[in-house]
Amino acid sequence: MNERTEPFSMPASFNLLWLQSAGCGGCTMSLLCSGAREPTAALEAVGVRILWHPSLSEESGEEATRILERCAAGELAVDALCVEGALLRGPRGSGGFHRHAGSGRPMMDWVKEIAQAARYTLAVGSCAAWGGVAAAGENVTDACGLQYEGDQPGGLLGANWKSRGGLPVINIAGCPCHPDWVTETLTALALGAFGGKDLDSFNRPRFFADHLVHHGCTRNEYYEFKASAHKPSDLGCLMENLGCKGTQAHADCNIRLWNGNGSCARGGAPCISCTEPGFEEPGHPFHETPKLAGIPIGLPTDMPKAWFVALAALSKSATPKRVRDNAVADHQVVVPAVKKTGLK
Ligand code: SF4
Ligand code: SF4
Repeated sequence: MNERTEPFSMPASFNLLWLQSAGCGGCTMSLLCSGAREPTAALEAVGVRILWHPSLSEESGEEATRILERCAAGELAVDALCVEGALLRGPRGSGGFHRHAGSGRPMMDWVKEIAQAARYTLAVGSCAAWGGVAAAGENVTDACGLQYEGDQPGGLLGANWKSRGGLPVINIAGCPCHPDWVTETLTALALGAFGGKDLDSFNRPRFFADHLVHHGCTRNEYYEFKASAHKPSDLGCLMENLGCKGTQAHADCNIRLWNGNGSCARGGAPCISCTEPGFEEPGHPFHETPKLAGIPIGLPTDMPKAWFVALAALSKSATPKRVRDNAVADHQVVVPAVKKTGLK
């Protein structure tokens, strides 16, 4: 973390309110898989107190509504408002497509009001950040993110909106987002160890967004030689044929791993760049690589096309038999040679 908003100290209490809007609930499911420690225990250890969460709290109906009213009125201090799911503005700007159960009030109105009172507002998942899956297709519900609509600033709160704590909406993107991205961001906020410089140009926490999914992928040797998989069970790189966008997608999935040992690419599924705005509508099937004259259109971030084409041709011609054969097998069929003269 680069900048502190206030002196590093254990807060007496850092109140968290979690609202669910138009999403699948997968980001909460992901949070529940946060590791050896229950997420609530991990958060409580740094002073985070959950005021209300629609899946984790007992209160519902009128009781839950009363909590929301007290938060909006400032009677209950909200340090972090976490919103999961896109905000539905339809029909015709009324927000009537999604009303909060218990109050009947449009969820977007609750979110707008409580965001003004909260110290920080966090978009949990790509729906809340950009609109995500909920905004795909014709978007008849007029879904948007909290402060973005796809890659365009704006969304529900407006491009220039800042929370009382001086930060824009913190976009913990991902579909779902990694549980640690949520708990680490909340922990850093609770400890006063998170500031504007900790956000990238899409306002995602840099501790995960300054990486690419490609970093740490176990298929990197295949990538180097452009030894490509042809089907999901193959060991080869998934970029050339199976749609992997790991060289462009900002996230640390292959360094941090999921559930301690997994990632999409490790499971044979291409990275679909779910942390990026607009990922839900790539314009091609997720498991296919769009190409022009046989060359993938989506080239790695930071790499000029001519260089990529030249290097790819060179690497393909230099591919060792071991890498070439293993790339199209579901297990290692040729093992690395053992040098008999000692390693130099
Ligand atoms: S970001 Fe993905 S996992 Fe999270 S609520 Fe939206 S659709 Fe579900
Ligand atoms: S499968 Fe994807 S993330 Fe893995 S090495 Fe290939 S391009 Fe990179």
